[in-house]
Amino acid sequence: MKPDTTTAMRNLIAEIRRAIPFGTPMASVCSDNCNGCSMKLLEFLDMELIDWERRLHAGEVPNFGDIARLAKTGRKIYQVMKKNGLVNPP
Ligand code: SF4
Repeated sequence: MKPDTTTAMRNLIAEIRRAIPFGTPMASVCSDNCNGCSMKLLEFLDMELIDWERRLHAGEVPNFGDIARLAKTGRKIYQVMKKNGLVNPP
């Protein structure tokens, strides 16, 4: 049976949206000692997720490379958010 990459991608998007604090007000995101610009990363990742949501909606089927890339981007950005104290411990 062919693995369902569309479902895997949907699950990944949901997981990233749960883990990453989108919608944090700018006043809380910005600080005096940023380790990488959390604000820009949040915007970038949000655009990536929106783009994939649109593509899935249009019937595009992602491949394993697409999923791996988005997972990697999500993990990297999560680490920066964590360093900047913007994610709550699980
Ligand atoms: S580097 Fe980014 S997150 Fe940090 S203060 Fe500047 S705009 Fe805000």
